[in-house]
Parts: sequence; C-alpha cells; structure tokens
Amino acid sequence: MDAPLLQVEGLTTHLFTDAGTVRAVEGVSLTIGRGEAVALVGESGCGKSMTALSLMRLVRPPGRILGGRVEFEGRNLLDLREEEMRRLRGGDIAMIFQDPMTFLNPLMRVGDQIAEAVRLHQGLDSRAAWRAALAALELVRIPAPDSVIEYYPHQLSGGMRQRVLIAMAISSRPSLLIADEPTTALDVTVQAQIMELLGDIRRELGSAMLLITHDLGLVAEYCDRIYVMYAGQIVEEADVGPLFASPQHPYTRALLKSTLGPDARVDAFESISGQPPDLARPPAGCRFHPRCPEALARCAHDEPPVIRPAAGRQARCWLLAQDAA
Ligand code: SF4
Repeated sequence: MDAPLLQVEGLTTHLFTDAGTVRAVEGVSLTIGRGEAVALVGESGCGKSMTALSLMRLVRPPGRILGGRVEFEGRNLLDLREEEMRRLRGGDIAMIFQDPMTFLNPLMRVGDQIAEAVRLHQGLDSRAAWRAALAALELVRIPAPDSVIEYYPHQLSGGMRQRVLIAMAISSRPSLLIADEPTTALDVTVQAQIMELLGDIRRELGSAMLLITHDLGLVAEYCDRIYVMYAGQIVEEADVGPLFASPQHPYTRALLKSTLGPDARVDAFESISGQPPDLARPPAGCRFHPRCPEALARCAHDEPPVIRPAAGRQARCWLLAQDAA
C-alpha cells in the first residue's frame, strides 16, 4: 500500500488562557491518502478548526502545539523551519476558509492577489503569473475571467469571492486542500456549486482534501472517509458508506439519527441533549459520558480505549471494548 500523503499521530494543542488550559486538540491521529477526500466532522468548539490550524502550524498564542507528529510526504511538519513551512502553505498544502473576505485584500485586484500567490510559490515573472492567475480563474469557472481578473473583491458576490479564494488555493496545484467550512456562509444552491467545483478540481489535479464541516449531508455526498471529533478527540473513523450504515460510537449514532431520522434538524448537533463540555475542565473518563444515552458505570471515570472493530474502522468506546472481550 502507498504511504499516506498526510499522517498525523497524537497531535496535541492546548490554549493557555486566563480561565485555564483549554485542551482543544488531544492526541488526534488521522491519515489522508493521495487524492482522497476525508471529512473531519464535529460541533462548534470541538477542536476541528484548531486541528487544521495545528496541521498548518498556524496556531497563535495563547495556543501551543504540545506534541505529536504531522508527516506530510514523509517530513514531520512540526520539525520544519518557519521559512519551509511558509513555502508549503499555499504551495503543496492550500487552505480554503469559510469567509473569503478575511483572506482577500480589499484594496488589491483579484488578479494581482492570485498572481502574487503564484509568484511566491512558483517563482514566475509577472506576465507568466498573470497568465497563471487567468488560468486559475478559468479552472474555477468564473464567468468572464478576463474582466473579473481586474475586479476588486467588493465587486463580487459571496460565491464568486469563494471561487477566487479557491483559484488562489489551487493556483499552485496543491496535493492537499484543507477546506474549513468552505460553504457555510453561502446559500444552498451556491454551496452545491462550490462543492461540485471542489470535487471537479480535485479530480483534475489529483489533490486530496480534508473537509472540515458540521454538515453530514456534504460528507455523504463528497467524501470517501470520515473522522468524527468530540471534545478535542477523534471518537470514530470509517469509510463514509459503512459509517452511515452502521455507526459504532453512540455520539455518531445520535448525530445520524438527528440528521436522517423523522425529526431531522438542519444542525444535527443541536438536537443532541446536553451541552458539549468546557474543554478547560473536560469530564473524567469518556468525554461524552454526561450526554451518552448508553453510558456504563465505568464511562464516568475510565478513559475508553480505541477499538478497531473492522479494517479501516475505529471507535473510542467502552461498549466496543466489551463486545471485543
Ligand atoms: Fe458512551 Fe461510555 Fe461509549 Fe463514552 S465510552 S460513548 S459514555 S458508552
């Protein structure tokens, strides 16, 4: 089997705030194969965006990466010099965020912004970089790219700005795209167009994708594999089909029930009773135990082991340990 493109082992990031140490990412391990689309799913504040920032070494104080390995194409990113990391970001690994306006410069034409990214990562001269910017706008199917290349961000709709951001991200033909809630701010029709576009571009460039989302519908449609995150930890991993057919972790079961059941909600996470824990004071034992409808007595004090019930699957739960025994 080919070595994975990205292999993360035991990644741990905490935030040292005045209110205490927030254990945002706790021993996260995940792998992404070449060309694979992998989802990281969880409710707000569960640590999924902090996981993405940690992979890219973009954690800012009071956050700090405390340990783990992030192997990308055989190199541990946590050991690279900042200059090497800068080359990698926006180069071989590109990120797309929810709000394009945070990342687009309102005072620069979109063409100049894409061309600048191209120049930085591919060392092209200005004319070649401008041509590459135009090609990237064509690839993201912006209508009239010759005109749009001269526009400023405020002259574009939300969906068009997201396309520009994607054009910038893919201009360096990355082998990994990290997309953090890329369509949350868009209306449903535009959401579907952007996801289709990302799928087409990935196929064309052969890029893998880590999609960070709370939308299980998007995962079902556009991803191969899924990691479910709860309170800073991965609680379940599986291929999308088997996970939807037979979720192994009670949290995943609750999520799917609220997404697919007769009382389905738009935001599945809202319908699970109780609140996610304060990560400055996570519960002892299983972090999900105060909300778990299937909790055993030991769940309140013993941390559950990670069990692999089948090839390519894992879940962190005492129920599975019992079954395995
Ligand atoms: Fe529920 Fe216990 Fe499994 Fe946690 S370990 S999900 S509390 S059954």
